[in-house]
Amino acid sequence: MSRPYIARVEGEKLHRRTFDVLVLGGGIAGLTAAISAARRWRVGLLTKAGFDDTTTFLAQGGIAAALGESDSPELHFEDTVQAGAGLCDENAVRVLVNEGPGRVRELMEICPHFDRVDGEIVLGREGAHSVARVVHAGGDATGSEVSSALAEAAKVGSRVQLYENEFVIDLLTLDGRCVGALSMSLDDGQLTLNVAMVTILATGGAGQVYGRTTNPAVATGDGIAMAYRAGAAIRGLEFVQFHPTGLAVEGQETVLLVTEALRGEGAYLRNKAGERFMERYDPRAELAARDVVVRGMVAEMRREKSESVCLDATHLDPGMLARRFPTVSAGVALHGLALARDLIPVAPVCHYFIGGVVTDVWGRTSVPGLYASGEVSSTGVHGANRLASNSLLEGLVFSERVVRDLDRYIGSLGEDVRRLRFALPQGDAEPRDGVDAAAARSALTTTMLRRAGVLRDEAGLRAAIVELRRLTSDLAFPRMGVAEYEALNLLTLGTQIAKSALLREESRGVHLREDFPERDDANWRRHITLRLPATQREELSTTGRREAST
Ligand SMILES: Cc1cc2nc3c(=O)[nH]c(=O)nc-3n(C[C@H](O)[C@H](O)[C@H](O)COP(=O)(O)OP(=O)(O)OC[C@H]3O[C@@H](n4cnc5c(N)ncnc54)[C@H](O)[C@@H]3O)c2cc1C
Repeated sequence: MSRPYIARVEGEKLHRRTFDVLVLGGGIAGLTAAISAARRWRVGLLTKAGFDDTTTFLAQGGIAAALGESDSPELHFEDTVQAGAGLCDENAVRVLVNEGPGRVRELMEICPHFDRVDGEIVLGREGAHSVARVVHAGGDATGSEVSSALAEAAKVGSRVQLYENEFVIDLLTLDGRCVGALSMSLDDGQLTLNVAMVTILATGGAGQVYGRTTNPAVATGDGIAMAYRAGAAIRGLEFVQFHPTGLAVEGQETVLLVTEALRGEGAYLRNKAGERFMERYDPRAELAARDVVVRGMVAEMRREKSESVCLDATHLDPGMLARRFPTVSAGVALHGLALARDLIPVAPVCHYFIGGVVTDVWGRTSVPGLYASGEVSSTGVHGANRLASNSLLEGLVFSERVVRDLDRYIGSLGEDVRRLRFALPQGDAEPRDGVDAAAARSALTTTMLRRAGVLRDEAGLRAAIVELRRLTSDLAFPRMGVAEYEALNLLTLGTQIAKSALLREESRGVHLREDFPERDDANWRRHITLRLPATQREELSTTGRREAST
């Protein structure tokens, strides 16, 4: 797994497309970047599924921005940095909170369905926000409203060339910079070299590493893994945010998120004995930061030897619950539950990847020509614990900044890479027997949940690394298809999560070590950054004459 190209290309005829700007991913980060870049550049956007099959589409609570009269970017900054547990990049947070309100107002022009009362935008309250500042659409259907509006704007109102069902396998690098990506059509298996002056990675997170997740099936961490193979620095992989309130019932493919906004409206957490317990762990009780709530829940679950606690909204107005939370109401109803009537069983569930591909405040990664935005990136705004509803905002703000930086980067290019002809290096994945991709994924998710989940320790993490290495070397390649590529990417991510979690000998934010329960600022107020050694990186070579830029 040390080779940068996992694609196996054996004599197939490669198609070729050329763009000024290539965007990978069709969630809020990818669509925002593509729509904005297409005002000036020739843009192609590839996504491995449809536009309604993204994490963005599932978002419920909303988007945080200092829009209210009692709010300010300074207050939003303080809340974000406080939640981030000492690891936020304060420059990046300033960019987020200062530029956020403007970006959200622009989004409201594309997506007119944000909730209002008497013409005034409604602001919701969520955990660890000191004031109500979360705008939402369709009650708790913010993600689907925003995704649909952005996808429509890309399809109808922009010149972006859109390719759905196009799986990106590898990034292409030449002379140390990124010049596009190799993709495979999921309709007919056709491989295509997508050559571009700039590539924007917006492939989202990796919740599928844990199997039990609120993330959709597409969240397999492909972007982080391919950027790592291409030589980009990645960091913070030990910071996996487990959301406190995933619906804890059997038989869900994607775990239903019981949104934090319910606690914002006054819902309680109760243990199996029926007691509210969060007050014992934090004065903010149910509205403490997510990591604090998760710790409280896990302590109660252990004490009671139970698999879940309960969310109690039965004292709240049934009309408000139905109006404000249609998605959660419909989701729990599938399991015979009603918010206004029943205690809802909930347990922590893998939800969000704080770590990712390192970027600066312009979305630039450590590989020239490769930008990253959205959940795939590590801009530094979340520190060691993401504040609720800051991630949609991060995608909006940093995608727009990426586009503002394109002129500068493209102007600095010495040649027109779009004209070059490339020879792909051979991948190292020779056909072989072994554990098939489905079995490897199942073993991976079991290992990750058991050994590198909410609570971690040295023995478990060491065992996880050994098991994941074994799975990686035993993975069978009867042929290379999406299942095999995704399994390789997930194993890469799992291994890097376990390695980073083992290195960080403290508990901070969402990273909880039972053998190092305290936060250790003296030794660990710093990031763990991983980068493939230069000797293991491999690049494209050009075939034919290189031409100067015209
Ligand atoms: C249930 C749920 C509720 C949430 N609620 C909120 C909320 O209220 N507020 C908030 O701020 N955040 C929320 N989040 C988090 C937030 O939704 C995500 O962090 C955000 O939407 C990520 O956007 P993105 O554009 O980076 O990625 P995504 O929306 O995940 O999009 C990734 C895109 O990349 C594509 N892709 C991935 N791999 C490949 C590949 N190999 N080839 C081609 N394409 C690929 C996917 O198909 C997809 O189009 C929630 C998350 C979940 C799961």
